[in-house]
Amino acid sequence: MRQSHLFTKTRREAPKDEVAKNAQLLISAGYIHKEMAGVYSYLPLGLRVLNNIMQVIREEMNAIGGQEVELAALQSPALWKKSGRWDDVAIDVWFKTELKGGGELGLATTHEEPLSALMTEYVQSYKDLPRAVYQFQTKFRNELRAKSGIMRTREFIMKDLYSFGRDEKEFRDFYETCAGAYKKIFARIGIGGQTFRTFASGGSFSKYSDEFQTLSDAGEDTIYVHREKGIAVNKEVFNDEVLADLGLKKDELEEVKAIEVGNIFPLGTKYSSALGLTYKDEKGEPQPVVMGSYGIGPGRLMGTIVEVLSDAKGIVWPKEVAPYPVHLISISGGNADVVAEADRLYDLLAEHGIEALYDDRDVRAGEKFADADLIGIPSRLVVSEKTMSSGGVEMIISDGRLPAGRQGATTLVPESDIIERLSK
Ligand code: ATP
Ligand code: MG
Repeated sequence: MRQSHLFTKTRREAPKDEVAKNAQLLISAGYIHKEMAGVYSYLPLGLRVLNNIMQVIREEMNAIGGQEVELAALQSPALWKKSGRWDDVAIDVWFKTELKGGGELGLATTHEEPLSALMTEYVQSYKDLPRAVYQFQTKFRNELRAKSGIMRTREFIMKDLYSFGRDEKEFRDFYETCAGAYKKIFARIGIGGQTFRTFASGGSFSKYSDEFQTLSDAGEDTIYVHREKGIAVNKEVFNDEVLADLGLKKDELEEVKAIEVGNIFPLGTKYSSALGLTYKDEKGEPQPVVMGSYGIGPGRLMGTIVEVLSDAKGIVWPKEVAPYPVHLISISGGNADVVAEADRLYDLLAEHGIEALYDDRDVRAGEKFADADLIGIPSRLVVSEKTMSSGGVEMIISDGRLPAGRQGATTLVPESDIIERLSK
């Protein structure tokens, strides 16, 4: 992508109405656009990051047998009345809309009811279980607090997976498998070290659920973390009984702020019973399906990465989620040979399947580097008169933690080595 063609631009001043660092940086760098409080649009660079995060999640969900669907966002009240959740007290974030011809519809906040109803058409016998079904689907929640940028929005994509099992054991096996997949996801997108499996309230159908919480002062939750054991307890359930259950001692735990990036939840037979999702066991007796739900917010993850990994100069994307793997920058000062060399390198990268963001704009070097620091692509190639006379290209490959251009040291690499080094 030639930056001279990109319709978005960076801006030096952070938007004044944003208090969250993630929104300030993402808007300044041209990743997102604010529509109104708690509502954001994703621009070309931002959509690439979001899609990369979703692809990591998709791969890990497919690896544990998840089958991808996409359910409708418009929901019929009939199904929600069966479970008692059409009520605004049961779900206090509903957006509902009246139909012109009479009647009402709900805008999806979650999908237990519609998916349980759908599965009744396909699950009849014990042979049809277990199953795991997931989607990346737009949720609407009329959130009161919308001050955390893209980490808490009124409209957002959620990866929600639902598991359907024959009994508690089958459910539990999948639950643990999914917890393992979540660990892999957070590690791959670069926040594994800061993210802890956290015991949280199980609601009405189970003693506990598990949240995945990323340590950050920008978080809205308070948790008590045991770093060596790699587990934590949410303040909501922090009491002597829980500590005893988990074999933890109060004075070994550290109180910290954290962001809930994911949540896995035992549902028992609450929705299967309400929606009539049963199967016939080996004896031909009808049994309710045992369910679980497993959510992750890709937008909240993107905001979390920015909160946790950015520095004073801008965003720092881990390799797996960066909008482009490499930022190619030409410093030509009007020299046509430099332009030609940078163009050639851009084409060479493309031939090798390496997508680059190419800063081919006619602007000063200082502006290009400041923009590159703000945008935060982990590897950088610089072509200038100086590098050409030294017979190479200036190259910085980040180790996935440090941003390009911020390590101090740059290497002059002969062109013949560039492709190999970037492919690593
Ligand atoms: P919270 O307690 O933060 O409001 P929740 O417990 O209501 O979240 P879940 O229903 O468990 O959220 O949703 C699953 C995941 O979806 C969350 O772990 C989070 O990553 C994401 N998510 C939830 N609400 C939002 C939101 N308003 N904006 C962006 N992502 C969200
Ligand atoms: Mg939750």
